Amino acid sequence: MLSSSLRVARRPLPRRKRFLSIHEYQSVQLLNSVGTRNSRSTHAKVAQYGIPTPKGLPAKTKEEAVAALRQLHDEGSSAVVVKAQVLAGGRGKGMFDNGFKGGVHMAQSVNEVENLAGQMLGAKLITKQTGERGRPCNTVMIAEAREPAHEYYVAVLNDRVTQGIVLVASAQGGMNIEEVAAKDPDAIITTPIDFEKGLSIEEGKTIAAKLGFREELQGEAAGIFSNLVKIFKEKDATQIEINPMAETKDGAVLCMDAKFGFDENAEFRQKDIFALRDVSQEEPSEVEAAKAGLNFIKLDGSIGCLVNGAGLAMATMDVLALHGGNPANFLDVGGGATPDTVKKAFELLLSDPKVKSIFINIFGGIMRCDYIAEGVIKATKELQMTIPLVVRLKGTKEAEAKAMIKESGLKIIAFDSLDDAAERAVQLAN
Ligand code: GDP
Ligand code: MN
Repeated sequence: MLSSSLRVARRPLPRRKRFLSIHEYQSVQLLNSVGTRNSRSTHAKVAQYGIPTPKGLPAKTKEEAVAALRQLHDEGSSAVVVKAQVLAGGRGKGMFDNGFKGGVHMAQSVNEVENLAGQMLGAKLITKQTGERGRPCNTVMIAEAREPAHEYYVAVLNDRVTQGIVLVASAQGGMNIEEVAAKDPDAIITTPIDFEKGLSIEEGKTIAAKLGFREELQGEAAGIFSNLVKIFKEKDATQIEINPMAETKDGAVLCMDAKFGFDENAEFRQKDIFALRDVSQEEPSEVEAAKAGLNFIKLDGSIGCLVNGAGLAMATMDVLALHGGNPANFLDVGGGATPDTVKKAFELLLSDPKVKSIFINIFGGIMRCDYIAEGVIKATKELQMTIPLVVRLKGTKEAEAKAMIKESGLKIIAFDSLDDAAERAVQLAN
């Protein structure tokens, strides 16, 4: 997805997920829907989004897919698009783990739809955004096919520069927007938006004209822009990305794909949205970690890290990288970790077959080093660990912790210097 500044090349930085994503078929319902009550108005009005999309129906089985096709046939569509519902972009160019190519396919007959749904359902789709593990496709969306005459890109995002929200739009939709941003930055129009006032139809029309929408469709496009901004605000979104927003051959303007992010801090007042969470799309180890109160993000390297504090965790990863190492995860056990949570953290690290060494870097402030030592010793014994362990403990109860490790007789390599410790962890992983 697009970074609002467009300047920073994307790299897979570990960052704690602070937003919820929903499936495309759910986004379709939200775009088409009637919104929540406008609480600031005295006559509680009901806000209407009514943003047009192609009709789309979810299906979890081949039979449901065929039923959806029949329904769309009855409503007058002849061709449909079968779309894998996984929480990642780049589905069209993706590849399933069973070898089947592409997460977006056109189809017409019952046979075709049955076959496509059969290939997609139960398989994992790997796209540019999923990493090599891919994401399971448990649902497909059967959408009416429409003929785009032109594909645009539009997004509503938070922007650091203007410290507000922006509408980002481009006439070069349908393709990877990061590429457009890199090759032809002028092809992207960024419009700062007054969060309270939203985007007026007039402002929207100006954007639509700049993008090159035909004059008679500019009002239609402006209405969509304005309503996207409205959803962003009312639903506590952090990001909305429509790619493509299409002008169709029959003169309609439609959102043909949608990716939403919602602010997790707004869960308490967006219950209906957060009810849509699909944990099957999340990394299982991250779901486990969240239950144990650990800040854990899985990465692709070979050095398991156990650190307290997000800042120290980031610094640890940087130092490992400096020594040519590659972290297997970001893990901040926080200040309130107990020997039990430390053990849980170990289980997570050890469940990853890629982990070849473990680096524990603790700065004892509120966190007590002896708690970490206790957890580490317990885990090492109970989990029959064979992976080398490099430990650096500093601060509160440091002496006690070191004594415990020494007495345990376990093969734990202790260091005082961060640099030396990191270097050793890298050596052991290679
Ligand atoms: P993404 O690959 O995850 O971004 O999935 P999209 O929903 O954007 O679909 C990928 C591409 O399939 C789009 O960019 C369109 O070019 C194409 N596509 C999707 N729906 C239709 C349709 O109804 N008709 C046609 N002709 N193309 C479509
Ligand atoms: Mn798309």
